[in-house]
Amino acid sequence: MYFSKMLIPTLREAPSDADIISAKLMIRAGMIRKVSSGLYEFLPLGLKALRKVETIIREEMNAAGGQEVILPLLFPKELWLETGRWNVYGKELFRLKDRKEAEFCLAPTAEEGITDLIRKNINSYKQLPLMLYQFGTKFRDEIRPRFGIMRAREFLMKDGYSFHADEADLEKYYKIMFDAYTNICKRCGFKFRAVEAASGAIGGSFSHEFMVLAETGEEEIAHCECGYGANTEKAETLPFEPLTEELLNMEEVFTPDIGSVEDVSKFLNANPEKFIKTMIYIADNQPLAVLVRGDFEVNEVKLQAYLGANELVLADESTINDITGAPCGFAGPVNLKKKIKIIADLSVVNVKNAVVGANKKDYHLKNVNAGRDYKYGESADLRKIAEGDICPRCKKGKISFSRGIEVGHAFKLGTKYSKSMNASYLDTNGKENLIVMGCYGIGVTRILAATIEQSHDENGIIWPDNIAPFEVIIVPVNFADEKTKEAAEKIYNELTAKGLDVLVDDRDERAGIKFKDADLTGIPYRITIGEKNLANGNVELKARKDGKEGIKLLKPEDAVAELLNIFKK
Ligand code: ATP
Ligand code: MG
Repeated sequence: MYFSKMLIPTLREAPSDADIISAKLMIRAGMIRKVSSGLYEFLPLGLKALRKVETIIREEMNAAGGQEVILPLLFPKELWLETGRWNVYGKELFRLKDRKEAEFCLAPTAEEGITDLIRKNINSYKQLPLMLYQFGTKFRDEIRPRFGIMRAREFLMKDGYSFHADEADLEKYYKIMFDAYTNICKRCGFKFRAVEAASGAIGGSFSHEFMVLAETGEEEIAHCECGYGANTEKAETLPFEPLTEELLNMEEVFTPDIGSVEDVSKFLNANPEKFIKTMIYIADNQPLAVLVRGDFEVNEVKLQAYLGANELVLADESTINDITGAPCGFAGPVNLKKKIKIIADLSVVNVKNAVVGANKKDYHLKNVNAGRDYKYGESADLRKIAEGDICPRCKKGKISFSRGIEVGHAFKLGTKYSKSMNASYLDTNGKENLIVMGCYGIGVTRILAATIEQSHDENGIIWPDNIAPFEVIIVPVNFADEKTKEAAEKIYNELTAKGLDVLVDDRDERAGIKFKDADLTGIPYRITIGEKNLANGNVELKARKDGKEGIKLLKPEDAVAELLNIFKK
């Protein structure tokens, strides 16, 4: 391809609303343009890179036995009513009506669609197992679309679904998909981790998120040297060893205008580990109190899952007043004004002689002990894991945190969808069984952005060889010079004949501008043809990832040979 013929509108500056380096660079490199919040156009260079990611994913899905299909983007409401997700999905679901007032949604994911296809076309064990996948646009009305194509309202996803006769077969296939996802991440050149994304209660491996490690990632990952990794939203925590401590008498202490754990700890000269915070929540209109140690936070994702609640919110000031009889900051489990359910996080069950709010303005209680001074109904793992915690898996190492971008998600669905939509098959005995399912999503557009987050410098993008829109850029310093042009075209023809994707910067621009654009667009290898070097029989070869010191002066045929060698052509 010739630069002058392509639409590559590079920019010196990123627009002011581009909020992350990958978005800035993709826009500056002329790969994407923003249409409106969370909606982007892919320009030729952006699409070329996207197709490379798609190819890697397609190859891995096919190698794992997947078959490609295309489902509609528009789904009738009735399908979504069957699984209940029409109501559960909430505002993220784009809904619309046709001319006859029939309701539809734009697919945010396609479990309903694929399960409908399967129940109509699979009836025997002989047709199982099966894995179908598609590359499809997904629509989600995100609360806060941001970070360019990383959290968009319309994006490209590869979603795959597998169908099995039983759990054991799903388990076996899940491992194959796990490996396929690992291969995809490796081929994209990612530094990544596959982390547990659901509590270990169900074996610790029923859902995995593939996280690209990056400071700008929205997700927080807890990990241990033993190999354990989990999203901090889901990571399990362990109870603490009981301390042998004499139980002291409970005392009320005056703590004027001091409500926060930090301030009360200082005031009473007590360690935050002695403090029990009492958080009042409303779960599906029911108030409840959650007790957690002063130095930890309640994990609302865990709490909501534990309660099986559709909605969970912290109680507002007036509700807290109503329930505890005191303003915010003085809630405690002893003598709550209203009798509500109290759940203790595992971190508090062994705390002796605790400090708690007294349910009375400006007062706390010291030396409070569960059983003697108050009772909780149940205890569970409800807190957010913290750095320095003992690893819940090896029970020895210490937990550290990193940030990550979730690019993929593999999930054992079991019979969740086949049950509600009645997708079954007849087994060898002619008995009807529900089909067991797995689902595997990967954000194709998000992968592009994640790659740039991990691989760029102050001059622009540095594409890994596998997903670069072009593998080589030829920069003739003066394309109008006949000999230069001839040399450029010869190299171009030799490389493209072997299947390399090559861009020739044939523009009538200064060399400095061409070099800047070559760096910005991140093409991995640059061949520069200058008149002087050429007169001596040489061209320059430089890898994008190397600095000027990496420039090699080579004969054109040697430069071609070296590139063919690098790309194994
Ligand atoms: P997140 O926690 O980031 O919202 P999710 O759990 O909603 O992600 P899934 O439903 O598992 O995501 O979707 C599968 C994949 O689709 C994700 O791993 C991610 O790569 C991609 N994805 C999800 N939401 C978006 C979005 N708004 N924009 C771009 N890609 C997305
Ligand atoms: Mg989401």
